[in-house]
Amino acid sequence: MADFLPDVPKSELHLHLEGSVEPETLYELDPSGSIEDYRALYHYTDFDAFLRAFGAIGKRLRTPADYALITRRLLERLEAQNVRYAEIIIAAGVVLWKQQEFAPIFDAVRAAAGESRVRVRWILDAVRQFGVEPAMRVAELAAERVNQEVVALGIGGSEERGPASWFQDVFAFAGSAGLHLHAHAGESMGPESIWEALSLGAERIGHGIAAVRDPALMRHLRERDIPLEICITSNLVTGVVQRIEDHPVRRLFDAGVPIVLNSDDPAMFRCSLTGEFQLAAEQFGFTEAELRRIAENGFRYAFDWR
Ligand SMILES: [Zn+2]
Repeated sequence: MADFLPDVPKSELHLHLEGSVEPETLYELDPSGSIEDYRALYHYTDFDAFLRAFGAIGKRLRTPADYALITRRLLERLEAQNVRYAEIIIAAGVVLWKQQEFAPIFDAVRAAAGESRVRVRWILDAVRQFGVEPAMRVAELAAERVNQEVVALGIGGSEERGPASWFQDVFAFAGSAGLHLHAHAGESMGPESIWEALSLGAERIGHGIAAVRDPALMRHLRERDIPLEICITSNLVTGVVQRIEDHPVRRLFDAGVPIVLNSDDPAMFRCSLTGEFQLAAEQFGFTEAELRRIAENGFRYAFDWR
């Protein structure tokens, strides 16, 4: 471990609440299944299998108290890594799909976050493949909570089955409500998916690793100062990058594309934010100065860091 890393003040800009739930916590929430069954949920062979597992974990979160518990557990782990600021993505689209009421769940997670030393802001995420109507409902929930630490509307899930172009009106509505705009793009699809998200006004791109295949896009990101939220371990586990030596993080950074490092779904990928910085040092030769700069980017590109 590069020994300065644990102490560097860090910020998480790409972190899913539901992806932070350890199998042991699921078991604690519902001991009717076996711990082995819960652990088996955390194995995926490809990106779609990962998305199904993400949904399966979400399904097991039932009450506002469940959501509060997983928020507290996540924040304890962030505090231990000297994370000072986090924009936590909550899959509001999944909550609605489960036909649960969002308000009590959000109130519970917000109250749990209020007890933490980490400054927490929320990104409400719509599920691309669920379509436009459900996404608009998520945008409305986000718009109602701009004064309750909700900073952005996001789209996640399958780029293939839910192209960004569907969400033009949704993003326009969210933008006019004072929300920032966030999109997962260029993770499992090519650069055109990133261009599409940018044309809707996305201010940060979740993953965006496909940008490395498009020099004009890399230039655009650099000139417009639009960061990519890079999650190295995530990309390897979901199989969108086959071998670590193929991961484009170094090439993107060297091309001057703004990047931040993130854990994405730390429990589902068995990773941590500090670990991602460590990986960048070990596998890609990032120097201490470079890693400190990337850590500062985590604050610089935050939607609501003082
Ligand atoms: Zn993500």
